[in-house]
Amino acid sequence: MTKVVLATRNAHKVEELREILADVSADLGLEIVGLGDFPHAPDVVEDGVTFEQNAILKAASAANATGLPALADDSGLTVDVLGGAPGIFSARWSGGGGDRANLELLLAQLGDVRDEHRAAAFVCAAALVLPDGRAAAEVGRFPGAVAREPRGTQGFGYDPVFVPSDQPAGDERTLAEYDAQEKNHVSHRALAFRALVPHLKEHLRP
Ligand code: IMP
Repeated sequence: MTKVVLATRNAHKVEELREILADVSADLGLEIVGLGDFPHAPDVVEDGVTFEQNAILKAASAANATGLPALADDSGLTVDVLGGAPGIFSARWSGGGGDRANLELLLAQLGDVRDEHRAAAFVCAAALVLPDGRAAAEVGRFPGAVAREPRGTQGFGYDPVFVPSDQPAGDERTLAEYDAQEKNHVSHRALAFRALVPHLKEHLRP
């Protein structure tokens, strides 16, 4: 087995990625672990200005601290009419007020914007960095629109105001009205890590 570390201390995210990468992990003999097993790994200053840069910063730090090939992601919501904001600033859009405050600020900013101009996308960059410094990153984009008010109780972040475009039977559910399994199958994170699979095959085949 080849150990690969995902740059997170969140066991739930490790489990989610194991599911997304189940096939390639079986093919290449990969065991995905989290940074929970490496308490000395430092926190990263995410001072990149793109999702790709921040994902590579996180993965490089994890590869450096563990000596293992490392995976990381960086994600956020991009709203067309706001020129791509909140983007890499999604987690702190309200200045540190948390998920609910971020979402309410966004709804207030878009208060006068008509439905046809509320297009947005969740974007995720997934990165692989090897201990020798070689790096690759891929982006996943999950298109949708910003709703007028929050709906649903699942998920986190901007899920209650994000209505994915391609829904079965033309539904207009928010992502907070998807169950976790369904979201994880179609999300920007799943798209980004699936796009990274050829790089895993190139660099991690024993
Ligand atoms: P990070 O990649 O975990 O740092 O996420 C950055 C921020 O983007 C989160 O705090 C959320 O505000 C937002 N975000 C990223 N992915 C999602 C998602 O799947 N649903 C809702 N919000 C998200």
